This record gives sequence, C-alpha cells and structure tokens, in this order.
Amino acid sequence: MDKESDRWNYKPTGKVQLNPLFSRSIRIRAIFEWYASYWFQLSTTTLALILALLAWVFFFPSISSFQKLNWQSYGTLYLLNLVPHCFFAGGIHHWLYRYKGQAKKFKFDARDPARDNGVYTFRDQVKDNMFWTICSGITLWTLFQAVVLWSMANGFAPVLTFPENPIFFILVFPILIVWASFHFYWIHRFLHWPPMYRIAHALHHRNINVGPWSGISMHPIEHFLFYTNFLIHFILASSPVHLMFHGYMQSIHPIFSHSGFEKLYVADKERASMGDFFHQLHHRYFECNYGTVEMPWDRWFGSFHDGTEAATLETRARKKRMYES
Ligand SMILES: [Zn+2]
Ligand SMILES: [Zn+2]
Repeated sequence: MDKESDRWNYKPTGKVQLNPLFSRSIRIRAIFEWYASYWFQLSTTTLALILALLAWVFFFPSISSFQKLNWQSYGTLYLLNLVPHCFFAGGIHHWLYRYKGQAKKFKFDARDPARDNGVYTFRDQVKDNMFWTICSGITLWTLFQAVVLWSMANGFAPVLTFPENPIFFILVFPILIVWASFHFYWIHRFLHWPPMYRIAHALHHRNINVGPWSGISMHPIEHFLFYTNFLIHFILASSPVHLMFHGYMQSIHPIFSHSGFEKLYVADKERASMGDFFHQLHHRYFECNYGTVEMPWDRWFGSFHDGTEAATLETRARKKRMYES
C-alpha cells in the first residue's frame, strides 16, 4: 500500500500519466487514445471549442469594429468572457460544494473550503477566489484579447480566415494547446522563484485545497504574466475564433482542473472527467508539476511528481534545498 494514498480522500490508481507523444518508445495506440480522450469527447478542450464557436457565430462583432475604442464591441468581448466563466465556476461550485451533489465521491482532499481564515481576502476562501478571478483575472484576460483585436483591426497582427487556408486554420487549435503548455511551464517556474513567489504567486497558493473558483484566482502580476500567452497572436496568423478558444482554454479549463474532484458524477453516473491530480499535487507539495500533462517539461527538468510516496519525499527535499539557498 502506497503511503501517499493515506494523504488523500481519493487518489487515482496508478501513476500520473504524461502525454505519450513524448515518451521514449513510439506508442501509436496510446497517442491516439490520449488525443481522442479530449478532442473526441466532452472535455475542457471541446468545451472551449464549443464556447468559442458559439461566441464567434452568434455574438462576435466584426474585426473592423475593434479599430477604434468602440465600447459596444469591447463590452461584448468582456461579457463573452465574464458570463461563461461565472456560469461554469458558479455552477460547478454550487453542485460540488453547496448542494454537495456527489458528496465526497472522487474528491481528492477531504476538507471543505476554508472559512473564517485570515489568510484569505474577506477571511473566506470562496469570496477571496471570486474577487481575484472577477476583478483581476477576467479584466486582464479581456484586456490582452482587446489589444490583439485592436491590432488585428489595424493591421498590426496577422488575421487568418477559414477559406484562405482551411488546414492551417484547424491546426491553429492544437498549436495553441502546445504553446500554452510551454508558456505556462516557464512563467510558472519563474513565479516560483522565491521573490516572485512572495510578491505574486503566493496568492494563488493560498489554495492548498482548491475549488472551481481557485482556477484563475491570482495576483494581478501573475495574471499579467499568465496572459502574455496571447502575444502569440502577433506571430501566428489566427482569427477571433482562435483567440476566444485560447481564452477559454486558458481560463475556463482551470475551473475544472482546480475543481478538487476527479470526476463529475450526476444521478449516479459519471458525466465528465474533469479533475487534474497532476496540478492538485502542485497545490499540495508546491515545488513539483509546474507545467501540464500535455508536455513533459517537468520530467525533463526533474520536477515531475507522479503521485507516489517516493515523489513526495523527493519534492520535499527539493523544496528544502530551494528555500535554504
Ligand atoms: Zn493552480
Ligand atoms: Zn505554483
């Protein structure tokens, strides 16, 4: 029996898996299954894609309307971020933590969100998380997208349309995922440099026991760095649908990956796999799993925690070394 299991209310069986595309041996079937699990099923990736398509087809103003400071266009952009984010974070929070729809089934950490705790703004974890998400997160997320759209409208950022190059148009979606994983790893490592950690990243790490609203509950400095991710649109030709997908993937995905539960269970049936034990480990042990499971940066740089007791001991030793030096 692995001692690590005693530390969790629920722990997935086996070791945490990374994208097999980067494994030493060629595993075609495993690679296919890995990608099929989130492109051909209901996942945060397909959800981001559906939201982006809905936003683009039904609500999105024309690119040219972003040429000047047109409040209607920029306001629509803000609402297209605010409304779905609050809907999913609020809805999932309600189901899991208020209504307790599945009790503690598949919940990693046994504890409830913290209350009356001075660590948090308003002495309340959920209110703290909502405040930083809405006031800083959604604002900076929208601001970066606004800069890209203004630049697209004024000819400073390349625009791609579907008829121009349909294959590349489709490829931009997976390219953005790889880019996001690369960017996140390095920004996140920088944020764990002790001075940056103290100034900015500690705010996100108030949440050891995470919940849906913790996803993008961050300090404004961290939001700024995190959303520099959108600057890729100055190099990579793309369209508003890509930009919206990028935003939802960056921001709505963390709602699920921080939900604290591995699976969504409704009416005694598994409805979606949503949790991310890889990142949950980062929130408990800090100095491990800085990236995502999409690209094995953590394995390459020796910070991978695969969910075993041996990895916990290794991480604790690394943390000691980091803070002693
Ligand atoms: Zn996190
Ligand atoms: Zn961190």
